[in-house]
Amino acid sequence: MQGIIIKTTGSWYYVQTPEGAIVDCKIKGNFRLKGIKTTNPVAIGDHVFFNKEVNEAHGVIYEIETRRNCIIRKSVNLSKQSHILAANIDEAFLVVSLYQPRTPQGFMDRFILTAEAYHVPVSLIFNKVDLYDADTLALLNVYIQMYQAIGYRCYVCSATEKQGLTSIQTAMQNKVNLFSGNSGVGKSALINALDPSLHIKTGNISTYHNKGKHTTTFAEMHPLSFGGYIMDTPGIREFGMVAFTTEEVSLYFPEMRHLKAHCQFNNCTHVHEPRCAIKQAVEENKIHPWRYKSYLAILKGEEVETPGLIENKQDAKK
Ligand code: GDP
Ligand code: ZN
Repeated sequence: MQGIIIKTTGSWYYVQTPEGAIVDCKIKGNFRLKGIKTTNPVAIGDHVFFNKEVNEAHGVIYEIETRRNCIIRKSVNLSKQSHILAANIDEAFLVVSLYQPRTPQGFMDRFILTAEAYHVPVSLIFNKVDLYDADTLALLNVYIQMYQAIGYRCYVCSATEKQGLTSIQTAMQNKVNLFSGNSGVGKSALINALDPSLHIKTGNISTYHNKGKHTTTFAEMHPLSFGGYIMDTPGIREFGMVAFTTEEVSLYFPEMRHLKAHCQFNNCTHVHEPRCAIKQAVEENKIHPWRYKSYLAILKGEEVETPGLIENKQDAKK
């Protein structure tokens, strides 16, 4: 039999079959020994095969399908083990706001970079549009054009005014979705507006938890009333904490990826080198100067101490 892992508790795995049944499963004993050094062999979103005897109360997982992508948290201790937070994510939505609180652009670019590195498709949701004045709306338009030009879908909405929700619902439908964003941008309000059957309280989904708050230890996928899932994974803050080499950073800026080959030096960092195709593209306005600025900041390791994507340091300091 086969299915998808929709909840893990550490030793138990809840597998949903294509027919909709949920089967409690354990993992075959020798599973952990195989290959990858992870603390958990399977995670929510994994497609698995399992056996279940008619007279048995639970099933036994014996195989996982190859993952399309996954988000991994590297452990800080000496064991060098890593923990898989979630697998097979169809779309990561970064919820941002340009007012109360204002999400810094560096935060958006860092999230996008990490999602690219994990091979997770990413879209941006600009929430609280009902609060934007003329200047903020002008900024919104610059961002939309900038991000759409490099292939990221942008949605504009107001969770409280129930505006712009339909296109987001359509994008989420029948997919495995992940929502992230800095505290206060309206993730809980938005998720409840998108699917009122979820009744998520502020701070209830672990992705929204502030540092230090007690978090649930269970990873879970909540089914959406209109089809698909929303993932709730403790530790998703780590999403923003991947360390990149200089080469990787430009690789994960899609507008730079294809130009790199035209730089004079093949180890060009696109900062100070002569005959750099990236710098030339910035001068010719083919690469947005704000994105290039973000690239330089990421290279320099600025904001590196930012604890991931859920918290916004500037806001936290207030
Ligand atoms: P989270 O921390 O990202 O989950 O944010 P919440 O969902 O808790 O929202 C934070 C605050 O922003 C709450 O007071 C919400 O009512 C408010 N809020 C959320 N979305 C909107 C919106 O679209 N417009 C306005 N004006 N307020 C919003
Ligand atoms: Zn270059």
